[in-house]
Amino acid sequence: YNAEYAPLIDEKENIGGMIIVFQDITEQQKLENMRKEFVANVSHELKTPITTIKSYTETLMDGAIGDKDIAMNFLSIVDDECDRMARIVRSLLQLSDLDYKQTKWNKKSLDINELLEKIYLKIKMAAEEKKQEIKLQLEENIGHITADKDGIEQVILNIITNAIKYTPENGVIEITAKPEGEKVIITVKDDGIGIPKEDMSRIFERFYRVDKARSREMGGTGLGLSIAKQIVEAHSGEIQIQSQYKSGTTVDIIFPLE
Ligand code: ADP
Repeated sequence: YNAEYAPLIDEKENIGGMIIVFQDITEQQKLENMRKEFVANVSHELKTPITTIKSYTETLMDGAIGDKDIAMNFLSIVDDECDRMARIVRSLLQLSDLDYKQTKWNKKSLDINELLEKIYLKIKMAAEEKKQEIKLQLEENIGHITADKDGIEQVILNIITNAIKYTPENGVIEITAKPEGEKVIITVKDDGIGIPKEDMSRIFERFYRVDKARSREMGGTGLGLSIAKQIVEAHSGEIQIQSQYKSGTTVDIIFPLE
């Protein structure tokens, strides 16, 4: 609601009352505001790397190119910023496909245990490089889900990558899966930095990050969770996040079993 108010003043300048007008912001207006905010965010996110690339390029052209070490260092920064822009654009295109239901899903029967074991092997190294302990605990024969393998892999890898990114060295990351009724719950639990209570309701928003600088440093775009949520929902599933600031985060990814 929008609220505006005005006092009612009589001829002796006494305040005799107050008029308060509550205005219901229509759904359409809310969507329009979200759209504007999104465009502003995209522009800002792309402007930052462009500014960096431009200034390093100019410095190189002004003479820095003569010193090979400096030149290499600057070029590697330019290269990183290009990668960053490419990541943002790739994610935006994926979101747009998801929004317009253009994504071509190749849904097949996938064995949960097999899927998680493969993902675990892919991501294990990244955690170990950060001296983190990463564990996979599975129950026997959890069953199958009907899903797009690449899509589901992207979601689970993204959630585990977040756990690695937002957990300091020597932290512990646990991946578990268990059937519950007609569903399977895949859980990624970390003992990392956690998410403050006041940010919890916004972390699925596009470009929303608790700590922009930290996310940026880790190569994050703030689009990962919003993409993950859309992919999971396209598979009739859901993502739930619980977190305790400064002590850790638990993400549940829930899918219907076959
Ligand atoms: P990013 O690219 O910044 O990682 P995401 O959309 O994946 O973006 O996540 C949004 C934000 O949610 C992150 O910037 C971070 O602040 C928070 N977040 C996500 N996962 C975790 C986690 N496991 N621990 C702490 N914070 C997290």
